[in-house]
Amino acid sequence: MKSGFVVLVGRSNVGKSTLLNALVGTKIAITSPKPQTTRFPIHGIINDERGQIVFVDTPGVFAKARDPVTSSLNQHVRDALRDIDLVVYVADPTRAIGNEENMMLRLVEPVKAKKILAINKIDEHRPPYIEEYRNLSDRFDATVEISALHHKNLKQLVSVVFDMLSEGEAHYPEFQFTNIDNRVWVAEIIREKVFIQMGQEIPYSVAVEIEDIEERKQSTPSNSPSKKGEKTTDILYVKANIVTNAERYKGMLVGSGGRKIKEMGASARRELEGALNRRVFLDLQVVVDPQWTARLL
Ligand code: GDP
Ligand code: MG
Repeated sequence: MKSGFVVLVGRSNVGKSTLLNALVGTKIAITSPKPQTTRFPIHGIINDERGQIVFVDTPGVFAKARDPVTSSLNQHVRDALRDIDLVVYVADPTRAIGNEENMMLRLVEPVKAKKILAINKIDEHRPPYIEEYRNLSDRFDATVEISALHHKNLKQLVSVVFDMLSEGEAHYPEFQFTNIDNRVWVAEIIREKVFIQMGQEIPYSVAVEIEDIEERKQSTPSNSPSKKGEKTTDILYVKANIVTNAERYKGMLVGSGGRKIKEMGASARRELEGALNRRVFLDLQVVVDPQWTARLL
């Protein structure tokens, strides 16, 4: 069995988080058109008959590390590169190679582990700088052209990764697909649905708080007349609050006749069920708490 830590590196917005989510098959890293979304390394784990790969998402590296936040982000990337088995260097052929790219390339150059160049976004119509990136191929052990967004050539990428990894023990139990705490992950999924549903209306006055997550047995009456009694199914019960700081926002979040909160709840539940492959009961409420920033941030 093969196993290893595979770090995804590349400048911001090349699609590292999108790739991680696509590889794992569920959303664990929140992606956005804005840079700097990922603030700490997120592990996405895939298991199959060949073994286990732990993909490590990193924040972008910034050319000018003036403030402490930026330099600590840069340090995260250096740390992530230290104890890894393989590098997947993600590149975006819709943007020219510039300072930031050259800095990233210098950062990975001394790394001893094998390196794969993943040229992303090939779904874009004729990415203008693709030849510039293809010319980098001889600095890497393999090159794969992919689309993280459209799940193109990802199987090929995973095969190349498995080929290059050595034999080893799994680092995570087989059912676990991320290092992120369940509560944080569930809250992020709900928060995303709030943003989607509300658009630009109240983006920063909302937080999500998980009050309870527990396994519950739910008894469902047996349909078959021959079998008496009930059968039980496991469901995941989640109680969550959408917390906002003002009464007027509550009305907006609930919507007329509860339309908005119902929609948010339904799409969050669908995503959780898909990701966890089990039934979820989501008990979602809007709560007004003027102190929420102090409590939740
Ligand atoms: P990161 O900063 O490297 O983690 O990049 P993200 O994963 O957050 O993606 C940045 C932006 O690029 C988002 O708007 C993604 O939707 C977009 N993106 C990522 N992968 C692809 C892809 O394969 N094709 C296209 N067209 N866009 C992509
Ligand atoms: Mg990211």
